[in-house]
Amino acid sequence: MLAAEIEIERAPVVTDEELCKSVDEIFRNMPLLRAVVVVDNEMKPVGLIPRSDFLLQLSQRFGRALYENRPVASLMQAEPLIVPVNEPFEDFVRAQFLTGEHEVQDIFVLTDDEGHYRGISNGRAVMKALLDAQKILLADLSSSREQLVIANEQLGQEVSVRRAAEREAINASHRDPLTGLFNRAPMVRNIDELIEDEAPFALIFIDLDGFKTLNDVYGHLAGDEALRTVARRLGELEEGVTCARFGGDEFAVILPKSASAEAPEIYARKLHGAITESFEFDGRYLRIGASLGLALYPDNATLSNDLLQAADMAMLRAKREGGGLRKYDRSVDAGSTSRRAQLQALTAAVGEQEIEPYFQPIVDLTTRQPIVHEVLARWPSGGDPLGRPDNFIALAEREGLIDDLFWLVFAKACNGVRRAEVRTRLAFNVSARQLHNASLPERLLREIDRQGLRPEDIEVEVTETAMIANEKLAAAALRKLRQAGVQIALDDFGTGFSSLALLHKFPFDSLKIDHSFVSRMTSERRSLDIVASTLLMAERLGLKTVAEGVEDQATLDCLAEIGCNMVQGYYLGRPAPTLLQTASGSQKICQVA
Ligand code: C2E
Ligand code: CA
Ligand code: CA
Repeated sequence: MLAAEIEIERAPVVTDEELCKSVDEIFRNMPLLRAVVVVDNEMKPVGLIPRSDFLLQLSQRFGRALYENRPVASLMQAEPLIVPVNEPFEDFVRAQFLTGEHEVQDIFVLTDDEGHYRGISNGRAVMKALLDAQKILLADLSSSREQLVIANEQLGQEVSVRRAAEREAINASHRDPLTGLFNRAPMVRNIDELIEDEAPFALIFIDLDGFKTLNDVYGHLAGDEALRTVARRLGELEEGVTCARFGGDEFAVILPKSASAEAPEIYARKLHGAITESFEFDGRYLRIGASLGLALYPDNATLSNDLLQAADMAMLRAKREGGGLRKYDRSVDAGSTSRRAQLQALTAAVGEQEIEPYFQPIVDLTTRQPIVHEVLARWPSGGDPLGRPDNFIALAEREGLIDDLFWLVFAKACNGVRRAEVRTRLAFNVSARQLHNASLPERLLREIDRQGLRPEDIEVEVTETAMIANEKLAAAALRKLRQAGVQIALDDFGTGFSSLALLHKFPFDSLKIDHSFVSRMTSERRSLDIVASTLLMAERLGLKTVAEGVEDQATLDCLAEIGCNMVQGYYLGRPAPTLLQTASGSQKICQVA
């Protein structure tokens, strides 16, 4: 701010030679005039005559008579305060009013840069200018403060939007994209928090039954729909529960403390009912089973890990016993192993090559020779129940270990054949997952060759579910193998969904009639009829037949009578670790003949 902005009064000027009476006249004519400025020839101020000083002098005794005809220089202030209009105002104010170097002069003279007179001003005008400046400054400040507030608000909004986005992102990474449920980590945190608060609650562990089959038979889209349906039903049944998908077909639900002790169990049963209700997929109604394990905090465990294990063990017991709900029971479940431990144990067993091939003979009823041996995987140190093939094979399939397990068993079995120097075909069980790997045929043929065997020495047993899941891929793989000379058997015939339809679509070499029919055929007419008509049909289609699960002489006799080609079962030889021990079957055939 410059001095020019102070209110300037154009006070009249006189030269120093003029007489005081003309100044007197000026003041008389201009009653509000504060001062008259004395200038030189160049209009530069040389003095100042303030009204009050001047009139005071004149009013004194003889004042007027004394001064009237004297030049103004005799009454002027000789060194008036002169301020160039372009001087920064603040500097002037500081110099004039704050430093105390000068006597404060109320009236001062303003000049231009060359020192020419411009006008006069006074302390009041300075104050006014200062206040005005301050007001502007304040107005500026307040408007900028307003702007600041607005900017701040905008920033705040932006920050909260960004925070929400971050939360969303964190949530998303903590959520299962398929079902929108929490995944494992946030669920475990939730459990930890409840435990920290010492708030009683129930944990329910859910594992679907038959999910793999559903996936295999109806495809992954059906599997996805099943998972989404289950997730929706978990959330719909009761308010205040927290649901999570732990991966695959596993779910977990936290039920907060309820009014009665029975409430968790009642809820879990309802949950089982809701999950197993049918759902629509692609115009069909499908149904899925479920095994549920229930564990209570703090009754069953006081640490999240232990509680999760307890629920898992109860669930595994439910699964072993055919599905439904089981409550954790220390006396029963404490000895069993959690699924995570199971997976670790199996992974280690495969890694350490602990899985062994056992051989079970398949005996030709005409030649009476064990012309084929089915290779069955065994886990000697697996213990019960995990060590049973049904269990660890299912686990291996689910956890993606089946391929490693297969090649391990395959190599060991081929070794066994070479060592025993027995001429026999080896039949391997190939699971659905393996069939869907497009490189399986090439790899199998390569490995057969590497083992010094021929494709004719090898048979592949597949189940219908493996075929149906991805018919084209599976059929193409089997066709390649068959062309190379590998025999293809359809396993567990009669237990699946579309056995007959499948026979039309794919040229198998043999049919293995499931032992559920074979073992009952001597006691149950229906089973006998099924086996007999299967044999007839197979003959028409040019397929060889194998009866599985032959456990006694009567069954063997009956099968021989109705024209079965081959037999397999405990009666002819149990699965054994070496090929040599499996020769006993032929003698029994002799008894048939
Ligand atoms: P599977 O292919 O139907 O194998 C026949 C099963 O019936 C074997 O059970 C065998 O021990 C059993 N068995 C044989 N004779 C009799 C009998 O007279 N009576 C009765 N009750 N059972 C008899 P195991 O060895 O427990 O295998 C169960 C299933 O595990 C097999 O059923 C097969 O699906 C699967 N599996 C076994 N080893 C492998 C493998 O290396 N790879 C694959 N993918 N699956 C395998
Ligand atoms: Ca088999
Ligand atoms: Ca079978």
